[in-house]
Amino acid sequence: MHIQLLMTGSELMRGTTVDTNAVRIADTLASIGLAIQRKVTVGDDLDLLVRELLAQSSEADVLIVNGGLGPTSDDLTAQAVAYAAEDTLLENAAALAHLEQWCRKLHIPLNAANRKQTVLPSSAFLLENPIGSAVGFGVHLHRCLVLCTPGVPRELEAMLTGSILPRLQHDYPDCEQQIILRLHLFGIGESQAQDMIDTAIPQWPDGVVLGFRAGLPTVEVKLLVRASVANIAHDYFARLKTLLADYIVAEGEQNMAAALLDTLAADGKTLACAESCTGGLVSAMLTEIPGSSRVFTAGFITYSNAMKSAMLGVSEQTLEKYGAVSEHTVREMVDGALKHSGADYALAVSGIAGPDGGSTDKPVGTVWIGWGNTQHITTRCFLISGPRKRFQQLAAAIALDQIRRMATGCSGIPPYFERWQKKT
Ligand code: AMP
Ligand code: MG
Repeated sequence: MHIQLLMTGSELMRGTTVDTNAVRIADTLASIGLAIQRKVTVGDDLDLLVRELLAQSSEADVLIVNGGLGPTSDDLTAQAVAYAAEDTLLENAAALAHLEQWCRKLHIPLNAANRKQTVLPSSAFLLENPIGSAVGFGVHLHRCLVLCTPGVPRELEAMLTGSILPRLQHDYPDCEQQIILRLHLFGIGESQAQDMIDTAIPQWPDGVVLGFRAGLPTVEVKLLVRASVANIAHDYFARLKTLLADYIVAEGEQNMAAALLDTLAADGKTLACAESCTGGLVSAMLTEIPGSSRVFTAGFITYSNAMKSAMLGVSEQTLEKYGAVSEHTVREMVDGALKHSGADYALAVSGIAGPDGGSTDKPVGTVWIGWGNTQHITTRCFLISGPRKRFQQLAAAIALDQIRRMATGCSGIPPYFERWQKKT
């Protein structure tokens, strides 16, 4: 089946809105094994819309159009589809009923702008929108099924799962459910992971496709699997897990913070964070996860030297002699966090995020990270280049990764020790 996308909206062309809808549509279709062959984006321009509708519908079996269903004058999808199909525009009774009900629910009167949303090509059939005012609709144009969907991401999502997927599965019963098996890696690059996997598993069975996505701070490795070969794929997934063992920080839909919380919770352990240059990022990554209170006891955001002393008991002599970004300071920060929170594990981060504040001795990107428990504290210095945000994300991830490695007894040395460690 040949599927195309037509994304509409001047905000997409100007760069004021990131086109997350195309990603969502592609992802949803991929879940039933359907791929998009071509994607076109145009602004809110009637001529261009009609031209693209005609061109794409003459090539594709299914064309999904997104955006332009709103009540304002720049929402032109219904008009453009009517022109392309040489159809007339009519007030659609079912669309009107939908809008009336939507207005009743919100206790607002149906105004003229909203009423415009009920004017659709006469041959249109409705695609249900359970949550918004926009009316999704479909028409047949040439031999192509054209499905028009709203730009509001939440409404699009509801329509994709509520009416578009079922319809495509009904019309194309041969498409098969896909399963995605995911691993999230930290401390290893995409190419290095690819190399390791290629050497160990040179060939993949039919219906199993290996994929990568380099994110920050983790790299995702995934198997896209046809449901009928799920059993074989799970064996291969197990091989991947053995191969990448120490680098795996999370699996499936989890991220590294969520996985760490589960690991610590399973052991009945708790964690506290003492943060300077990450300004609470590590604590936020943890507390964003529901149920984090099982594990997370405290986050000390001690930005100034005075607060490092007052809240964590870092000695003034240490700060004066070695500075805030030093081995001694982060060691005392870990120690103070353990003592003040009573947690089983603590981590500490103190560095120079930049762009200013560096020196020859401690250039921008220098960060001391400490982690440990009451028996043993480890500290290391890294040099992480790049913008402030990247620096903070990677420093936070290293700190979390070290707690994971300590809690799970990983003995291997992560490659980022080599790559980012700063000689001191
Ligand atoms: P529309 O259906 O064109 O009126 O779009 C309604 C709103 O949805 C826009 O104002 C944007 O905020 C958002 N939107 C439209 N297209 C996209 C897209 N491709 N990705 C993400 N958001 C979008
Ligand atoms: Mg729009």
